[in-house]
Amino acid sequence: MPCPCGTKLEYQDCCELYHKGEAKPETAEQLMRSRYSAFAKKNEQYILDTWHPSENNGEIDLKKDLTWWLGLVILNTSLGQAGDTTGEVEFVASYRLRKKEYKLHERSSFVKEDGQWFYVDGVLVK
Ligand SMILES: [Zn+2]
Repeated sequence: MPCPCGTKLEYQDCCELYHKGEAKPETAEQLMRSRYSAFAKKNEQYILDTWHPSENNGEIDLKKDLTWWLGLVILNTSLGQAGDTTGEVEFVASYRLRKKEYKLHERSSFVKEDGQWFYVDGVLVK
């Protein structure tokens, strides 16, 4: 099964390694991709674990979420490499909801603490 994040790798060779805790994303982009895949797979725990504690209340409920994620395109990255502690990733995520298709264009901020990248927040790009 191809990974939802669009790398063309098998899921088991890509984001599943992060979802299972067998590897840690080295870059902000890898974390971004793995969080997208977690949304596609409705992996609430991973989404919470990789969301900076200052920015979430420990709750997320995707059970009734009808969003069907169609694909992820990374447009730009700034910093976010293995040696950095901050980074930005600009992406477009496509999804379908109630038979309509949408695109989410966001610039997301990430920080790395104790070797772990976290999503902080994002701004929508018009
Ligand atoms: Zn992946």
